[in-house]
Amino acid sequence: MQKNILIIGAGIAGCSLAHFLANTGWAVTLLEGQDNIAQGGSGNPVAAIYPKFMLNDQAYNDFMLKSFIFTTGWIEELKLDKNDYKFNGAIEILDQEYAHKLDINLSKKILDKKTFLSVMNPSILKKYNIDKNASGLLFHQGGWINPIALCRHLVNHSNIKTVTNQKVKSIEKLNLEWTLETDMKKKFMAHQVAICNAEYIHQFELTQHLQTDAFRGQINWVNQTSLEVPSIVSCDEGYLAPPIQKKHIFGATYAMNDFEEDIRLSDTRKNIASIKEIHQEFYKYCLKQESIDGRVSWRASTKDRKPYVGRVFNNDLFKKLRVRELAHADNLPWLEHLYVSSGFGSRGFTFAPYCSFVLANLINENLSREDKETLNYTNPERYRLRKMSLKKVASQIFQV
Ligand SMILES: Cc1cc2nc3c(=O)[nH]c(=O)nc-3n(C[C@H](O)[C@H](O)[C@H](O)COP(=O)(O)OP(=O)(O)OC[C@H]3O[C@@H](n4cnc5c(N)ncnc54)[C@H](O)[C@@H]3O)c2cc1C
Repeated sequence: MQKNILIIGAGIAGCSLAHFLANTGWAVTLLEGQDNIAQGGSGNPVAAIYPKFMLNDQAYNDFMLKSFIFTTGWIEELKLDKNDYKFNGAIEILDQEYAHKLDINLSKKILDKKTFLSVMNPSILKKYNIDKNASGLLFHQGGWINPIALCRHLVNHSNIKTVTNQKVKSIEKLNLEWTLETDMKKKFMAHQVAICNAEYIHQFELTQHLQTDAFRGQINWVNQTSLEVPSIVSCDEGYLAPPIQKKHIFGATYAMNDFEEDIRLSDTRKNIASIKEIHQEFYKYCLKQESIDGRVSWRASTKDRKPYVGRVFNNDLFKKLRVRELAHADNLPWLEHLYVSSGFGSRGFTFAPYCSFVLANLINENLSREDKETLNYTNPERYRLRKMSLKKVASQIFQV
């Protein structure tokens, strides 16, 4: 196998995939359209990392748990600067009944539940300076990361060549190599290619059927004050991070297919309102500020909230096959040596590192049973197969 690969997009999906492949001997060229890495969704000053569970979606919860445990353990081993991450807990404020039901559901899944989470009680609220007499869950291994520092750390590897200001316009297979052409008319060639470009995944002919919605999100921050705000990430309608880089960062708004790039005052107000119940004094302080800084970026989300991670079909072969032929996983017409990783929604810093690890195992032809289960779950072709009433094969592309 020729171990060279082009990766399109240098957010957390592309940077973490580059990292895992570089560590297994691949020569990686990471192509980024912007003038630096981590300028899209992965360019915020902080990302909260905690597991967001659903009440009635066991498969999603399993995926969330696997991702969260993998990613937090992996980050701890990366030897990042201690100022760039902290896993000292994260609080999710929830309706009491909902929190109670989630707690019961999770008891069945998590062996050592006591060290994993606690249902909120007055002593937790006091310890972490949460104002509201809130109910919810405290995830002991939750926390936050500096996304830009993480991405920079990941690509700092002798096997990774990062090329910025190169927006890839087309992907073509010429002879046995993938050839990528950029808007600067530069060409890049390699045996394998991975598309990690978030909400732009459908820009290429080969992946135009992979639908995502772009959700605009604005975050805000003020300079650090002497107020005793919560000392861990606290999430209610919005989140409030503990002081990081001498700032109090809070957010985020959520608006589908809204492409306005400027900071909006109405969104700043929404973000302030969303932390009212977490810390009244800080809320009042923010209301008094004449201007508040912020940042806007976009999340790429799929309709079923599962990312697209894996391979896509060769469109010409796909069109030729009959439904009954496609019903057998062995017949699926996978396009060789092209991979996708996108659609991480609001959870990219929990999901993407784990998914990149699994995708690197697929590229290295070294899949474990658990990797196969994950790729069955994130199969990028699930919609096309389901549309043909092939629900079973859509979730069983690998036998486990
Ligand atoms: C306001 C906000 C707050 C968030 N908070 C959190 C949080 O607290 N915790 C969390 O886990 N997640 C959070 N997220 C979600 C998280 O940021 C994303 O899930 C994650 O950044 C997605 O990573 P990515 O690499 O897929 O995409 P991106 O980081 O967007 O990277 C994609 C890259 O591809 C490049 N690109 C696109 N097209 C091309 C092309 N043709 N050629 C070359 N390059 C190209 C882009 O320039 C970009 O750099 C938040 C998102 C937003 C918007």
